[in-house]
Amino acid sequence: MNQTPLRLLIHGASGRMGQALLRLAAEHPEQLQVVAAVTGRAPAQRVVDGVPHFAASELPGAPPFDVAIDFSLPEGFDPIVALCVERGAGLVSGTTGISPVQRDALDAAAATIPLVWASNFSLGVAVLDELVERAAQALAGWDCDVVESHHTKKKDAPSGTALTLGAAAERGGAQPHYASLRAGDIIGEHLVQFTGQGERIELVHRATNRDIFARGALFVARQLPGRPAGSYRVRDLLDGPR
Ligand code: NAD
Repeated sequence: MNQTPLRLLIHGASGRMGQALLRLAAEHPEQLQVVAAVTGRAPAQRVVDGVPHFAASELPGAPPFDVAIDFSLPEGFDPIVALCVERGAGLVSGTTGISPVQRDALDAAAATIPLVWASNFSLGVAVLDELVERAAQALAGWDCDVVESHHTKKKDAPSGTALTLGAAAERGGAQPHYASLRAGDIIGEHLVQFTGQGERIELVHRATNRDIFARGALFVARQLPGRPAGSYRVRDLLDGPR
């Protein structure tokens, strides 16, 4: 059966995540077609490997697309949300540091388009989130600790992912405590530990490669078309086709 590829707009295309998205999307031309790559500044080349490139200021003239994947900066966030709403397209955003006002705009957009905003697009972390909530529900009264380890250049602590996992533990009824380690070149490790009397459960996720975030975002983008408007979590979409 012939499948029409999903038309993607990559927003923040010249960044570390944008480059990973372009590289990984190109591995599956039967599923994914990048119709526009948008960068903050004017692109050095108009077409790279067959993909048309645009400056952020040219966003309103972007060609038709089904889903935008945004890994840019907070200053680029409002225009891509507005464009997706205007075009009725899905939005997958991993841009961090957005303000409460921008978060409100995202909630408003979810009334008209399907979207996912997540601080971590790893599918493994999405599964860990589910496991943590379940463990917390089942282990009332146990101590809960979230320990995250990252490279020495990471400034914020606890990490956004640690706070997300802690929120899952809280939904399950636990009261998590946090610890942060900064060491060497660790890409990212998250341990959620439940400790009772005489026994302990350790749920751990280790990231060894930053591509996991791009792969997760591409997977999520493929799940959005045809879904009703709304704000989805990565874990809501895990059972979709690979
Ligand atoms: P980067 O600095 O390497 O790239 C930023 C990109 O945004 C560049 O392409 C730049 O041209 C573009 N940009 C800057 N201003 C813009 C504007 N006004 N309009 C449009 N585009 C603009 O950053 P990165 O490491 O690729 O990370 C990008 C974002 O993704 C950051 O917010 C980072 O924290 C986040 N991130 C999220 C996850 C996740 O899983 N959610 C994972 C990694 C990074």
